Amino acid sequence: MSAHFEAELAELRERSLLRQLREIDSPQQPEMELTGRRLINFSSNDYLGLATEPALREAAKQAIDQYGLGAGASRLISGTLSPHARLEEKIAEWKRTEAALTFTSGYSAAVGTLSGLLRKDDVVIVDKLSHASLIDGARLSGAVLRVFPHNHLGKLESHLKWAREHYPDSRVLVVTESVFSMDGDWSPLAEIVEMKHRHGALLMLDEAHAVGVIGANGRGLADKLGLTAEIDIHMGTLSKALGCAGGYVCGSRALIDLLINRARSFIFSTAPPPSVAAAATAAIVFLLSPAGERRRQDLRTRLLLFADEMPQLFPPERKIQSAILPIILGSSKRALDAMRIIGEAGYYVPAIRFPTVPRETARLRVTLSARHTPEQIKGLCSALRKYLAGLKAAETVEA
Ligand SMILES: *Cc1c(COP(=O)(O)O)cnc(C)c1O
Repeated sequence: MSAHFEAELAELRERSLLRQLREIDSPQQPEMELTGRRLINFSSNDYLGLATEPALREAAKQAIDQYGLGAGASRLISGTLSPHARLEEKIAEWKRTEAALTFTSGYSAAVGTLSGLLRKDDVVIVDKLSHASLIDGARLSGAVLRVFPHNHLGKLESHLKWAREHYPDSRVLVVTESVFSMDGDWSPLAEIVEMKHRHGALLMLDEAHAVGVIGANGRGLADKLGLTAEIDIHMGTLSKALGCAGGYVCGSRALIDLLINRARSFIFSTAPPPSVAAAATAAIVFLLSPAGERRRQDLRTRLLLFADEMPQLFPPERKIQSAILPIILGSSKRALDAMRIIGEAGYYVPAIRFPTVPRETARLRVTLSARHTPEQIKGLCSALRKYLAGLKAAETVEA
């Protein structure tokens, strides 16, 4: 029986694509304990250090005392517990939209929303580097799927024209991210908004890596560019910069009411624990406070330090756009080797391989937190420089 599975695992290992779990016996914070070794963690999306923030822990503890642990059932069955209602009001206030709906994860928010809003004869047009949850939702919907090369406005426009010509009466939905999860760059949002208006399409924007980090009070890229009202479907996660768990969608009241009726990942899934909702509400309160602004400023100064330390990755004309700092290496094997070598120097930086990124673009993905010390960042950069110099020397010998 298991020989059947083992052959497939062996094949993955052969291609340097095998994934394995590593146990961590510490919170997600800059210093972590990896199976008996202390490492400095440069892998977490907890950009502001909120996963361990005292105010959030306290909110969760209080909610456990008041509401217990599990939510009991889907909200349509057993009712909405107050912490979920408060969280959705808070998200809508923070994001400046009419209403919001929360899901157990960002993944289920994406899948439920896309499959709930699109039918067979609708058209969904997706950036090629979009997160797996968006691709999976688009596929599950059964709608006609068109993919445009990353941030390629010309191809997006030709798909829009094609959709309008062949499906004049259908819903046409453009899907993109504000900060791309494995590259850290932004989408050309203002241009995409202009284009979707011109072709009568809708726009869904996944701000998973932007909220908390970009814009005033961490409202994200749409708010920073003054485009909040132009986005039909705002999506994001409470699991990254907000340090908790869960996904959200926000927008018009009608959008949210429709999702309550159509999003199967919402309808057929038990609500998240109320303690997590209470902690996420506290995270938004934090983002709206002066302490939130200071934490974002701390992150900015650390990003500038990284850019200073790594001029080969960040020449003066290249602006840092997010806390995601990829070092593209090529083959999966090279990325795994790099992870091991950097690990031996005391730094945990994950290798990202196919299918998370396209083939032959495997990379190290460094993420910074406002909580890293300048010394930790300088130490990492020194190890990275040494590794990259060794790589260059080896290539010179080969050539
Ligand atoms: C992480 C991520 C998600 C999924 O969010 P989770 O809350 O982790 O399930 C969705 N979209 C993007 C762009 C992401 O990076």
